[in-house]
Amino acid sequence: MKYCSNCGSEVELKIPEGDNLPRYCCIKCKNIHYQNPKLVTGTIPVKGKKMLLCKRAINPRHGLWTLPAGFLENNETIEQGAFRETLEETRTKVEMKDLYLIFNIPQISQIYILFLADVIQQDFGQTSESLEVRLFGEDEIPWEELAFPFVPLALKNYLKDRQNNNFELKIETIERPVRKS
Ligand code: ZN
Repeated sequence: MKYCSNCGSEVELKIPEGDNLPRYCCIKCKNIHYQNPKLVTGTIPVKGKKMLLCKRAINPRHGLWTLPAGFLENNETIEQGAFRETLEETRTKVEMKDLYLIFNIPQISQIYILFLADVIQQDFGQTSESLEVRLFGEDEIPWEELAFPFVPLALKNYLKDRQNNNFELKIETIERPVRKS
């Protein structure tokens, strides 16, 4: 951040009085611009024994397969966000089920929140965000072509829990190497 979104003056990175972390502080209007983690919500859409994945039509990771998920919008609940992202990326209105996985990704300041969901119609398909949308059985998952580290982790958890039919909520931390600049 270089300029204050409140008044347009320059900001400086400093620890405000009474705080313990550096923040972007406006030199003129004194506004403190706090930056906090972003929430990503999505689903593991399931139909029978198969899982619905989408091939990304957008960067990053264009052409790789992912679970439908994206940034939560303001004024939206996490359930609404997960439903909306699934609709945008797969074109189908899923039936939302239980909250299933939470991934902390502290190095990139993101939290992923994934729900289980049932695919209740055959109307899924290509969207502006997905080149292709299809159901994969356990033996068909393109493990080498998955877009983000959370995708294989989510799928492995799901496949394991499915054996016992026990989908207890789990919280895991994904370590992402910090990119050297
Ligand atoms: Zn300002």
